[in-house]
Amino acid sequence: MLKKILYFLWASVFVIFLLISIRSGSFISFITSMENSTFDIRQKVLTNSGVRKHNIVAVDDASYEYILDHYGEWPLRRDVYAKMVDYIEAQNPKSIAFDIMFVKSMKSENSADETLINIFKKYDNVYTAMNLDDQPNDLRTPPKLPKKLSLTVPRNYVENNTPDVIEYTNCRAILEGIIEATSNIGMINVSRSDDGVLRQMPLYLKYQGKLYPQLGYLIGKRHNENLFVKPDKTGSVTLNWYGPAGTFENIPMYKLLKAVENGEEFDYDFNGKIVYFGATAASLFDIKTVPIDKVYPGVEVQATYVNNLLDGSAIQKVPAPVNIIIGLLLAALIIYCVFKIQSIAIASGLGFTIYSIYVMFVYFAMQTKNMWFEIIVPMIFCLFGFIVAVIIKYLIKSRDFDQQYKLATTDGLTELYNHRYFQEQLANFVSHAKRYKLPLSLIIIDIDFFKKFNDTFGHQSGDAVLRQVAFILKRNVRMSDIVCRYGGEEMSIILPSTTYEEAVNLANKLCKLVSEKKCKLSGGRESNVTISLGVASYGYDGVTPSELIETADKRLYNAKETGRNRVN
Ligand code: GH3
Ligand code: MG
Ligand code: MG
Repeated sequence: MLKKILYFLWASVFVIFLLISIRSGSFISFITSMENSTFDIRQKVLTNSGVRKHNIVAVDDASYEYILDHYGEWPLRRDVYAKMVDYIEAQNPKSIAFDIMFVKSMKSENSADETLINIFKKYDNVYTAMNLDDQPNDLRTPPKLPKKLSLTVPRNYVENNTPDVIEYTNCRAILEGIIEATSNIGMINVSRSDDGVLRQMPLYLKYQGKLYPQLGYLIGKRHNENLFVKPDKTGSVTLNWYGPAGTFENIPMYKLLKAVENGEEFDYDFNGKIVYFGATAASLFDIKTVPIDKVYPGVEVQATYVNNLLDGSAIQKVPAPVNIIIGLLLAALIIYCVFKIQSIAIASGLGFTIYSIYVMFVYFAMQTKNMWFEIIVPMIFCLFGFIVAVIIKYLIKSRDFDQQYKLATTDGLTELYNHRYFQEQLANFVSHAKRYKLPLSLIIIDIDFFKKFNDTFGHQSGDAVLRQVAFILKRNVRMSDIVCRYGGEEMSIILPSTTYEEAVNLANKLCKLVSEKKCKLSGGRESNVTISLGVASYGYDGVTPSELIETADKRLYNAKETGRNRVN
């Protein structure tokens, strides 16, 4: 009983803890960060085998040094970019995108800016970047952006499908000339998880009540009119990584510059490619932390994004209810195993196997279908189901054991201990009395003229009387006394630590109580019965169980002989 209360208390504490953690929200963010880690591991192990369609012209460390030596301090003069674009355009690239922002700059010469602006007028496949932010209004008045830059998505589509689309209050505008010259301008904002890792990219962002496309999304849409990606509630998609940094074809900018300046042939083929311009040099600070790498160039993130969109390999998160249903099914399977299988060790092994198979499935789903099935939520369900099942199984087992023990030691009619238990306990108490030199007494009881009683009132009434006499005996002895049905209408009481005199007193009291009790019989009748009792004590009357029983029996016989309804 005490055990059951303890189990119940533990279970309650566990449930309360769980509820509080869920309510406090820290539990959810803990689960999210755990799940994100499993995603990162999956991304490190698996490879997105999609075709990489880009070239990246990277300002790497070597190019940065080359530019410092040949063109002066960073940023690079804008007419130089214009020359590179002209050079690449000659090879018919699909598009050229700058992951570089051409903001107004004190250093930049107007004529150089003008050359670049003309490039945007000349080619409609050249894209550039802008950035939304939350700078205070008194630092910089939020600029108005022309309508042509905004994304035309039906308002109710966004409200229904991406209610939490990320919103910004300010914007760092780029050269007005470029904004006038082209509508190929996308935002290069990224979205980071709470732990600072970049796992997602927004498709579009909100600014001054309008939506603006992310640069990658803009290019993706341009190359595939029917591009369909399902964004999450914030209007973002989860990226599917192609491998560590350098997975795209990187061209150090200085090599291109040399070729451009010298009018040489260049051995990179830009035909049909999307060419990204960006910085990979650590000193230019465009470095992100992504699931597969702690230092990953921003321009490769952009390239990964566009590639994900074009080959349709962006990660699709499985909706939360599906993960919960999977968790419930797995937990049900594990609970079934715990109940069906005798050994807890084997059942837990099997449970572990079931969960491992699920994990393998989850990896397979990401590798082949780009699906993100959750690992942690189902694991919590499985663990919880397993623990609860084991506790319940144990409780049922102990209850079965209690029941069987009771069946084996008690008499069904009177609910007194049975003969076998009597013999066992008498032997125990005799050796106990011997060892500790303690008194021990035994009373044997027999109902008087019971055969006649049965004949008169019927066996049902006889049974009722047996029960009621047993009840009187039990009610009037100590907790430590053991009342048994010796057999037929004979009963016995083992009285530990009780002297002969005390036992005789008790026997007299019981004799009186029974004789005074009006027993209820079947058919609403009532009748009295009497009992005769024989008492024996350890030491005086015998030192073994059988000697004690023999003496008590003799005295019972004497009590019968001398008139019944008495003690001897
Ligand atoms: P005495 O005063 O000498 O003990 O006479 P008695 O009739 O009680 O003694 P006897 O041993 O001749 O008879 C015992 C009777 O107890 C016989 C049997 O019918 C009855 N008896 C034994 N067990 C049960 C039982 O479980 N239920 C009922 N109703 N009667 C029982
Ligand atoms: Mg008898
Ligand atoms: Mg009798």
